[in-house]
Amino acid sequence: MANDTYMSLEEVAEFLGVTYQLIYKLVRSGSLPAARLGKIYRVSRADLERYLESSKAPASGGTCSVCGTVYKSAGSLKNTCGEDGCEEPICFDCWTRLGVRRCKKHAKS
Ligand SMILES: [Zn+2]
Ligand SMILES: [Zn+2]
Repeated sequence: MANDTYMSLEEVAEFLGVTYQLIYKLVRSGSLPAARLGKIYRVSRADLERYLESSKAPASGGTCSVCGTVYKSAGSLKNTCGEDGCEEPICFDCWTRLGVRRCKKHAKS
């Protein structure tokens, strides 16, 4: 990686071992900040690292965005809000027993 300040979405995807589509979705939803130059997106290393830091927490446990229960392992929080780009975790209980598919923010009441 010659340019260590900004990365293309392809480079970010390769770096993280995920698909371009996923990175594109994160950028479009605003989850991952990116600079837009015409049709080309560039993600700064600093923003990427910040994003990775902030997305680390749920992987080692977290809080259900629906009922607020705190879980120590991510196993119970495998499901996330069905809204595009929203990563709010939904616990096993809410998902299977209550049939919740959206976080509180995106719930259609
Ligand atoms: Zn829950
Ligand atoms: Zn949501």
